[in-house]
Amino acid sequence: MGLRFFNTLSRTVQPFVPLDPGGRKVGLYCCGPTVYDFAHIGNWRTFVFADLVRRALEFSGYEVNHIMNITDVEDKIIRRVRETGTTLPAYTGPYEAAFFDDLTALGCRRPHQSPRATGYIPEMIELIGRLMERGVAYRAADGSVYFSIGKYRGCGCCYGQLVKLNFDEMRAGERVSSDEYSKESLADFALWKAWVPEDGAVFWPSPWGEGRPGWHIECSAMSMKLLGPSFDLHLGGEDLAFPHHEDEIAQSEGAGGYGPGQRFVKHWMHGAHLMVEGKKMSKSLGNFFTLRDLLAKGFTGREVRFLLLSSHYRESFNFTLEGLSGARTALARVDECVDKLRETAAGTPGVPSPGLVEQFRAAVEEDLNVAGAWGVVFEWVRESNRKLAAGTMTAGEAAAALAAWEWVDKVLGVGRVVEAGAPPEIEALLEARQAARKSKDFKQADAIRGELKAKGWLIEDTPKGPKLKKA
Ligand code: AMP
Ligand code: ZN
Repeated sequence: MGLRFFNTLSRTVQPFVPLDPGGRKVGLYCCGPTVYDFAHIGNWRTFVFADLVRRALEFSGYEVNHIMNITDVEDKIIRRVRETGTTLPAYTGPYEAAFFDDLTALGCRRPHQSPRATGYIPEMIELIGRLMERGVAYRAADGSVYFSIGKYRGCGCCYGQLVKLNFDEMRAGERVSSDEYSKESLADFALWKAWVPEDGAVFWPSPWGEGRPGWHIECSAMSMKLLGPSFDLHLGGEDLAFPHHEDEIAQSEGAGGYGPGQRFVKHWMHGAHLMVEGKKMSKSLGNFFTLRDLLAKGFTGREVRFLLLSSHYRESFNFTLEGLSGARTALARVDECVDKLRETAAGTPGVPSPGLVEQFRAAVEEDLNVAGAWGVVFEWVRESNRKLAAGTMTAGEAAAALAAWEWVDKVLGVGRVVEAGAPPEIEALLEARQAARKSKDFKQADAIRGELKAKGWLIEDTPKGPKLKKA
């Protein structure tokens, strides 16, 4: 059957066919975080969606080159650098580190490359130079360089591939210099912003004077440098379709070199927003939770991931703490079943039973139908629990079920990581505690328990004897 994705370009679900003539390699670019603050879980909905796309591709046998940039220079960052009196790298560094910590906590596979915008200024300058040469960019009186939508359209190029635009209200020569603007302020946008005093020490030399890149040119330059002028998939949240992605297309295709039928990106995918009481979760509305906020409330990254993956990526949904508690309960049911299967399998090697994997694959391949996929998983949990309770599941069946779950979880990424065995010195401490208990030296036994705890290990006394668990 094969993977099918909704493509924002065609507004239809269509088969995913990579550009690679060998049909194996896939280039995937997702617009990354603007590291001016901690990402909120609305942002994380989009990044977890990107991780799901990547995992689904890998599950279907593709070799993915996943790029996610770090936007470390743009309007909001410069404002914060100015307000805090620090330098650009000193300001963005800790937020970038926090972003990768959260990425790991949410079980996302790390992108193969995470280019920082500030590391690609020469590529941006080169791209702007090409746009100037082709006459679709111009230097305005304020010293900044703008992209001319009129000239671009005049060359037969299409501005408005992802969204419908009303050009009647657009006045020739009108410009917008800020990185963020709405469809109503459709205008020539900034490629290179001439230095102004508010920029402080944030500037680079260029043929058009000192300044800094606009946000949109950053992604065009980085994606084309790392994936080539034409690549398979470009992702982001739905708010990025306009102007950010529309401008990326214009900058890249406007620079030329595309043959007939060739384009910058073959499939565009956009994730719907995470909402709070019907409004987009956003920094500006103040209605957001960071992952840290939720971890501080006692939730885990796995539970947040489960919740973010519970709705289809093209449907917005409301975030509530009750919803997150529901995710915790549902995930605990999966954990419990998997634990029982593991006990029953008792180390027996297993080949994945085909039922779960194939039904799950069918759901995921149809434009990432997570509702269908979870339906398959929970039906499997019910059926497994029934057999386990009736005592009719053999070790071999449990092993096969477990192997199938491990396959499925390659896409979902919510499964509990099986603890690797404790290191020998920890095992030795556990043995010493057992010996102390045997000789009724409970004081010593408790002291060893305390020592283990200090080293990050908990003892769980089970009917089968004591087990070590990571604290
Ligand atoms: P930013 O760091 O602001 O550039 O945003 C990073 C990503 O988060 C972008 O792809 C945005 O589209 C996405 N995003 C922002 N707010 C939300 C939200 N409430 N729900 C889902 N995605 C969002
Ligand atoms: Zn981008």
